[in-house]
Amino acid sequence: MSPKLDHIETWIFDLDLTLYGPEHNIMEQVRDRIALFVEDYFDIDSEAAHKIRHAYWKSYGTTLGGLMAEHGVDLHSYLDFVHDVDLSLLNPSDRLRAGIEALPGRKLIFTNADAPYAERVLAKRGLDGLFTGLFDIHQMEHRPKPKPESYDRFCGHFDINPATALFVEDSAHNLEPAKAIGMTTVWINHATDHESGGEAPHYVDHEITDVADWLHYIKEQEAA
Ligand SMILES: [Mg+2]
Repeated sequence: MSPKLDHIETWIFDLDLTLYGPEHNIMEQVRDRIALFVEDYFDIDSEAAHKIRHAYWKSYGTTLGGLMAEHGVDLHSYLDFVHDVDLSLLNPSDRLRAGIEALPGRKLIFTNADAPYAERVLAKRGLDGLFTGLFDIHQMEHRPKPKPESYDRFCGHFDINPATALFVEDSAHNLEPAKAIGMTTVWINHATDHESGGEAPHYVDHEITDVADWLHYIKEQEAA
């Protein structure tokens, strides 16, 4: 991998499964809470609820998108419910913090979750106070990634020039619109990604397995 990142002025990070790994067992809990919400809402069994969860995620970007569009679900009660998870497996990472801190330029969070949950996750990871800004589902006006409108709103809000911005994500499909507007894209391949079968899609510039390792790698390259 050739870094060639001298031109990057804005460093953008997704939150879930980007600033912590699958080993922390957070997203499994969120997925189960989403299915439980769907189960209660429609009074159906768990298997049927997971099917709806997945179908809405596929066609609307988030399950919430489908629930709001088709059933007028109240987003605040939904978000509070699904993010009521146990974060005790999240631990601070000094190495990740040092890697992000050393980046030259602005650091931003771009997440389909909501800000209160994101702040809790950042605090548990020891990453609080590192980021200039956080753009959440409310600021996207509930048009989540990978909808192109969310990228336009995000770039407009922070006055981002995509040509000098880099975006780090674990969901490969969220990198496609980023690449289309000219961002440099970094995909964290957790090797659990069913959509691509493990192959990096064409809109991925850099494929990595761990953010902290990669940040330390590019810092060494720069020093060499
Ligand atoms: Mg993610």
